[in-house]
Amino acid sequence: MSSVFDQIISKEIPADIIYETENCLAFRDINPKAPEHILIIPKKPITKLSEAKPEDLQLLGQLMLAVGEVARILHVDEEGFRVIINNGRNAGQTVFHLHLHLLAGRRFDWPGL
Ligand code: AMP
Repeated sequence: MSSVFDQIISKEIPADIIYETENCLAFRDINPKAPEHILIIPKKPITKLSEAKPEDLQLLGQLMLAVGEVARILHVDEEGFRVIINNGRNAGQTVFHLHLHLLAGRRFDWPGL
């Protein structure tokens, strides 16, 4: 089933894209929970992390490396940031296309947000 992120990938709907590679896309969250809130997604429509397959190993690594690239673009790599993946209903996942939340620009409690 396609999601709103598929429409962002295909540029059918606009997004504030800050980083793009052949396989990954990063854009600003429309409802930010921190001064900087970026979503990093694979272009491949994996619904959630637990649906990723062994053949997605390289893609998952690319997503992790994209986190660092985005952090450097935002200049938050030194001060720090948080990365969150919500997987499924109990975690509050609302868009069923795998995405990493990169949150930065303030302090984060642990545990909690
Ligand atoms: P999650 O709750 O982990 O599924 O996160 C989904 C995120 O997608 C939420 O933080 C939403 O604010 C964000 N979101 C939904 N639609 C859009 C959109 N069109 N552009 C940017 N972010 C979006």
